[in-house]
Amino acid sequence: MTTDSALNLTLVRDRNDAAVLRAVRARGESGISRVQLAAGTGLTAQAISKITARLLGEGLLTEAGRLAGATGKPRTLLRLVPDARCALGAHLGRSELRLVRVDLGGAVTGRSAAPADLRGEAGPVLDRLAAMVRELTAGLDPAQVLGLGVACPGPLDARDGVLHEVTGMPHWRGLRLREEMAARTGLPVLVEKDTTAGVLSRLGADHRAYVFLGEGLGAGLVLGGRVHRGARTNAGEFGHQCVDRAGPVCACGARGCLEAVCLAALRAGRPADAAQALGVGVANLVRLLDIEEVLLGGDALLDSADLFESAIRAELAARVPDPTWQPVTLTRAPRLAVPLGAAGLALGRVFG
Ligand SMILES: [Zn+2]
Repeated sequence: MTTDSALNLTLVRDRNDAAVLRAVRARGESGISRVQLAAGTGLTAQAISKITARLLGEGLLTEAGRLAGATGKPRTLLRLVPDARCALGAHLGRSELRLVRVDLGGAVTGRSAAPADLRGEAGPVLDRLAAMVRELTAGLDPAQVLGLGVACPGPLDARDGVLHEVTGMPHWRGLRLREEMAARTGLPVLVEKDTTAGVLSRLGADHRAYVFLGEGLGAGLVLGGRVHRGARTNAGEFGHQCVDRAGPVCACGARGCLEAVCLAALRAGRPADAAQALGVGVANLVRLLDIEEVLLGGDALLDSADLFESAIRAELAARVPDPTWQPVTLTRAPRLAVPLGAAGLALGRVFG
């Protein structure tokens, strides 16, 4: 699966290099031969030969082992060199900064966290994040570091890396986050909405959603195998669907948003009610978009994962007309899904 090319600062020479790297990555430890690469990518043997020579020269691939064929000479296997490059992913949470460093294979090779308060000025928070980036890249060859993905609450314009009027973050309005972090770190920076980063944290079904309940509620979407950002990169404001016109007032100013209903129930010590309300929202989402997999994430949800999962399952069973024909897989996302997805954006510089 690829992200929108407009959001990538592509490093590899062309799409074909990226396609070869993705095919090698998909085979993992078992490796892949040049003949298999040609078959898998649709490229000619000559093109594969040139591209793999270049990627070997750049240290991204290595020859490791041979595949004994039934006939003819054994074929050399190619594998990714995981530590040839790394990428960083940050989650600007409303009360905490989380940062991960991943290798080319997506494995976490470093992590850090620090308290933050996004209600205040942006400058000190960004300075702290830049210091964390310096700590996690200390001693590395700068050419090894592909870049920094930064995920934060929306609404924001992911193409320009500019924040809009984010609820509860008045000092961040209009902030050119991508430019600010690029200036502080010297790295290529990509900005993404937290929930969209979450849905990109792992490969999964072609029609899937990442539903995040933490200090807010939102959803990231992959539809038809591609991330869905919407016309202004602001799709997935799942938490602000109105479910009760007479419900509690939401942080966004409207009344009865699903986010407000869930958070009010949690604050009142009624997690079962929050879980049931979220289940209704998830069933709405499944019916609207024919989603086949829902990734459950966010600390508030994962802290009571069994309760939320069973309530969502019950609402799906009650509200989706034919659950056997339209089954939905519920998967628990890792706690670090958002920074992992953000790091994946920076890995996109080589994988496309
Ligand atoms: Zn709202």
